[in-house]
Amino acid sequence: MPKKSVEVELISFPENLLDTIYVACRTCYSPQGAIEIYNNLNATDEQKLSLIEKVISSGHYSTIEHVQVTFAINNISRAATHQLVRHRHASFSQKSQRYVKEKAEFDYCMPTSIEANKALAAKFQKHMEDTHHLYLELIAQGIKAEDARAILPNAAASSIVVSMNLRELIHLANLRLCTRAQYEIRLTVRKMCTLVEEKAPWLANHLVPKCERLGYCDEDNSCGKMPKKNG
Ligand SMILES: Cc1cc2nc3c(=O)[nH]c(=O)nc-3n(C[C@H](O)[C@H](O)[C@H](O)COP(=O)(O)OP(=O)(O)OC[C@H]3O[C@@H](n4cnc5c(N)ncnc54)[C@H](O)[C@@H]3O)c2cc1C
Repeated sequence: MPKKSVEVELISFPENLLDTIYVACRTCYSPQGAIEIYNNLNATDEQKLSLIEKVISSGHYSTIEHVQVTFAINNISRAATHQLVRHRHASFSQKSQRYVKEKAEFDYCMPTSIEANKALAAKFQKHMEDTHHLYLELIAQGIKAEDARAILPNAAASSIVVSMNLRELIHLANLRLCTRAQYEIRLTVRKMCTLVEEKAPWLANHLVPKCERLGYCDEDNSCGKMPKKNG
């Protein structure tokens, strides 16, 4: 069955995110021990953020690695999860195509560019139905799901839990919010970032495409939003 757009939920987020990063930052520059700093937190949020921004902008990124966030994602294509799992500092648990047999019609994600064209969308859907029939035939003939899945398309819908620290989330955003990134992964990462920004609005300045961080575009095929690296 065709699935609606990707769904993302933020299922784990440290409520003491600011304190955690602040203690990490202060520990680097204070004669006090880390425990004393944590037990005597009397700085305002503005003061904490001011130090944190200074430390991050100087490239001292280990301080934001102490914070971990987790997302649950549904209705995402295998094509998009394959891009997600290329990020090596994140952790993943994905619905198995070995252990979970597609019983009724398998779910799939139709790219919006194809959905927008009625004739192509109909052909796409027919192709999915044909694939489904062959999949069921293979299963009926005793082929294990781990081998029958070989015919499932990149469009097959998946479900995945993703965890990463804040440094990796910023890196993910810098790469995957770029207009050069494929639409579905861009949409997924945008939803992930929006959920985090709702909890910590100050992070919006960091959860941006890389050009906004660099001040220029380093892609060969630039979208034109920012000047190219070398003029
Ligand atoms: C627009 C776009 C197009 C792409 N096209 C292709 C493609 O055609 N083919 C393809 O194969 N991939 C492609 N990719 C994937 C890309 O090559 C990376 O694998 C993916 O973006 C993960 O990025 P990363 O390695 O920087 O990040 P992560 O794996 O998240 O790592 C974060 C950072 O940690 C450091 N790091 C991690 N592992 C190592 C290591 N082993 N050694 C040294 N430093 C390390 C690096 O600084 C890295 O930037 C594309 C990505 C984008 C955004």
